[in-house]
Amino acid sequence: MKTIKDINVDGKRVFIRCDFNVPKDEDGNITDDRRIREALPTIKYCLDRDCKVILASHYERPKAGVFEEKYSLKPVKMRLRKMLKLADEVSIAKDVIGEDAKEKVANLKAGEVLILENLRFEAGETKNDEAFAKELASFADIYINDAFGACHRKHASIYAMAQQFEPENRACGFLMNKEVNFFEKVINNPVRPFVAVVGGSKVSGKLEALISLVEKVDKIVIGGGMAFTFLKAQGHEIGKSLVEEDLLEDARNIMLRARERGVKFYLPVDLVVADKFSDVANTKNVTFQEIPQSWMGLDIGPASSILFRQAIQDAHTIVWNGPMGVYEMDAFAKGSLKMSHAIAETHATSIVGGGDTADVVQRAGDIEEMTFVSTGGGASLELIEGKVLPGVEVLL
Ligand code: AMP
Repeated sequence: MKTIKDINVDGKRVFIRCDFNVPKDEDGNITDDRRIREALPTIKYCLDRDCKVILASHYERPKAGVFEEKYSLKPVKMRLRKMLKLADEVSIAKDVIGEDAKEKVANLKAGEVLILENLRFEAGETKNDEAFAKELASFADIYINDAFGACHRKHASIYAMAQQFEPENRACGFLMNKEVNFFEKVINNPVRPFVAVVGGSKVSGKLEALISLVEKVDKIVIGGGMAFTFLKAQGHEIGKSLVEEDLLEDARNIMLRARERGVKFYLPVDLVVADKFSDVANTKNVTFQEIPQSWMGLDIGPASSILFRQAIQDAHTIVWNGPMGVYEMDAFAKGSLKMSHAIAETHATSIVGGGDTADVVQRAGDIEEMTFVSTGGGASLELIEGKVLPGVEVLL
């Protein structure tokens, strides 16, 4: 994959597809601006070369064709202004390919940055629509994709648009290059012992990744809601905990394959159970054999935290995706926070993927201790699965 350094961008109109899909609170304040910060090296590289910079991103899932303030990228513009220490040089269009965007692109000067509105305000974006892609492409001489978090989606700004440019005029940005190289190196050439820590709500979202990981790792640690499908597959009573009955067979096969390969497979040995899915529920700690019929497991218990910490202690490479419990509620956050501390304490190369998991690491105050925190959850999972991401494929 060519990077921005391999092509000549000097003084040109450069379109950079970013991933500015940052979390915001109910008041619209950005709560974690890592994705914006991580886009800065590519943006600054272009500004230092007198480019006219056009930035585009999706933000959440608005209804196509309808402008809604809460999906606007205006807060991103304000944050970018501060980060770049620029003011009037950073502006935002009122639309994506409409009158205002066209006028602002035409008037854009060297060293200025224009952000287009949320790409998903246009129906063509998620449909990988060629006509829409052509309109976008007409804004620029150079196409740069730096949106690792969106690269697993065959959308217009990721795929069809890249095809509109000659190979010498398209490349990936620094962030995307870093993410793709990091995952490839770690997955295909890990320093062992290699441990995968997998959690989150369901097996289904990570089934392919688990099937792929079991062939590569030395140990697998399972926590979160998905642990109950594995526990049930072993014949345990799991009460009202989250379970995917249709995946019991897959869960059994994964455990069987782990045994065949000599991969050590860790499940929680105790759990924090609750009588309802609520922060103010009654809770107790029980072993995995004692989950009461009408209660649900919402976090791993203290003994599991110790077991998991010991399991990862000798690791040289750790991949972590998915929290150990419902960490959003204080009562069930401990298992995830302890997992984060445990990984941070090791000397392993640690790779954290997934928005929720990155959020846990941030809350735990361990972000600086991790080797690499990916900006893309779905995209990083697909790399683990061994897939070629559409956004990468089109640039090869
Ligand atoms: P995922 O997107 O699959 O990584 O799942 C992340 C979500 O899993 C978080 O919102 C957690 O609240 C949720 N989660 C973790 N553990 C459990 C559990 N034991 N029961 C229900 N949901 C859980």
